[in-house]
This record gives sequence, structure tokens and C-alpha cells, in this order.
Amino acid sequence: MLSCGGKLIRITVPYPLLMVVGILLLNTLGGCSLPLYKESQLEEQAQLQFETMRASTPVSNDVVTNEYVTCVANAIIATLPPTYANREWDVVVFDSQSINAFAMPGGHIGVFTGILAVAENQDQLAAIIGHEVAHVTEHHALERTNREATTQLGVMGATLALGGGEETADLLQKGAQLGLSLPYGRKQESGADAVGLMYMADAGFDPRQSVALWTNMEKKATAAPPEFMSTHPSPDSRKLDLIGHWATALPRYNAARAAGKRPNCRF
Ligand SMILES: [Zn+2]
Repeated sequence: MLSCGGKLIRITVPYPLLMVVGILLLNTLGGCSLPLYKESQLEEQAQLQFETMRASTPVSNDVVTNEYVTCVANAIIATLPPTYANREWDVVVFDSQSINAFAMPGGHIGVFTGILAVAENQDQLAAIIGHEVAHVTEHHALERTNREATTQLGVMGATLALGGGEETADLLQKGAQLGLSLPYGRKQESGADAVGLMYMADAGFDPRQSVALWTNMEKKATAAPPEFMSTHPSPDSRKLDLIGHWATALPRYNAARAAGKRPNCRF
């Protein structure tokens, strides 16, 4: 059974037709998107994945590093819409030379020590964390999961259409796992850049440092591009886009500074 515009749809067909019907059902209901997943399902999976990662990847115990990253993350979190600002966030510094950072639905932020060699100051780290958190507040993982489920996973859609049962639950879980592991699309990346820039500006971090960050990324990415950049737009196009958003971000930054938001996170 699927829900579409408040109306429940139930189909019952012999198995050989199941896959075809599922694909048609999921791809041809013009204008009506079928939300196979809810944010809460992704949050459950994200929690499991984050805990697994925390158990399998060395976590930095360095007090200064942890305080620095937490200070920047907390300043960003405080600017988020209340649903997100009032939630408890896990902020974990992973001891790894990988140039990477991420945020997951449910409120988990992971920063790898490798990226701290690229982000030269608190504002540049705020650009990274703002961007990652924007993926969460913009529901990008959910979009990605549902898109994958309706295109690549037609079989899943057909099985879900039958409704209920262990098999359905199993498929939902597998789909959520897959959805969380897929790279974001270009449009989502540009969107996260724009929204993240506003978060950092509202927190009192200089939005102009976002461009300096990407220049640093280019310098450090010599032979092999860092993992963080490989799934993101090219540095040149993202810098131009960011500069295009400064006209909106700078007044917000100035207003935040005037209101006393002057983060002082030291590393
Ligand atoms: Zn991104």
C-alpha cells in the first residue's frame, strides 16, 4: 500500500507482473511523488551507521581539536531552524588524514582531522560544517533515497505496493542504507553551498572565507582529489556561485556581528 496525496493505493497482482506494475506505478503517476521513505526511517539508519563508524574509526581525543570543532559546530547549530537547533547533535572528530566531513539525518556531524589542515581558520571550517548541515536540513538524503527507490529499485517499489510483512521491512531498511551511502547530486551540492553560506553568516562567520576554503582545497588536492571534493562541483564553478550569494550573505553576517555573534573558536 502506498500513500499519494493522502490517498492510499493498493495493488494486488500475480508476481510476474509485480515488477512491471511496480515500475509503472512509481514512474507514471504524473505529478504525484510517492514518498517511500520518511525522514525518521533514515534517522534510524543514520544512527546505526554513525555508531558503527564511531566504533570502527579512530576518534580524536585531543581536547583542543575537539573543543575547536565543537565550538564551530555549535555556533552553526544555534542558527538552524528550531527543529534542528533544539535537537541534540553528536559532533565527532575522527582521527584520519582523509580530507572529509559529513552530517547525517538525526543530528550527527563527523569531521576528519585531515580537513583541519585545509580549513585554515574557524570561518573556513564553518563553511564546511554549514554546507554539511545544510544537506541535513534540506532533506537531501531523503530525496536521494526516494529517487533511487523509484528509479533503480523498481522491484522494491512493487514489493512495497503489496504492503506490510517482513520482506517489506527488510527492503525498506536496505533502501535506507543504500540511500545514505550514495553521493549527493550536483544540484543538492549547490543548494547546500547556498544554504550553508547563510548559516555561517548568521552565526557570525565571514562568508567570504568560503571561497578561500575552496582555493585551499584546490592547492591541497594535487595528485588525487580529496574525497570531500570528488563528489562536489568543480572548485571554480562553486566559487563563482558562492560569490554570487555574497550580496545576500554579507548583510546577514554584518547583522549577526552587530548582534554580538562573534565566534572565537581557537585551534
Ligand atoms: Zn556536499
